[in-house]
Amino acid sequence: MPHRREPIRTCMGCRTERPKRELIRVVKTPSGETLVDPTGKRSGRGAYICPSMECFNAAVKRRSLERALGTAIPESVKEQLEAMVQELLRGPDRNVPEGDLLPEKAK
Ligand SMILES: [Zn+2]
Repeated sequence: MPHRREPIRTCMGCRTERPKRELIRVVKTPSGETLVDPTGKRSGRGAYICPSMECFNAAVKRRSLERALGTAIPESVKEQLEAMVQELLRGPDRNVPEGDLLPEKAK
């Protein structure tokens, strides 16, 4: 069966375009809260990074997530995001519903 057309998003770290489900989403909710969104389903404005520490570090350093979301990103959210990247790099994760977020470029 051919693949369904998937939404493509750009990683804020390396600027690579990838299927949305391979990326980690950070969302600014309509109430202005910034959160890591493991489900990818929250409403709000999203920004994405690959599950890779390189991309995380690049995104933090260049403030690309802040720019993409148009808001400051609290340290606590960056920590959550980093924890999420590391969790994904460790392998299959019980908390990821689709079980489909395995990094292709894990180092
Ligand atoms: Zn990336």
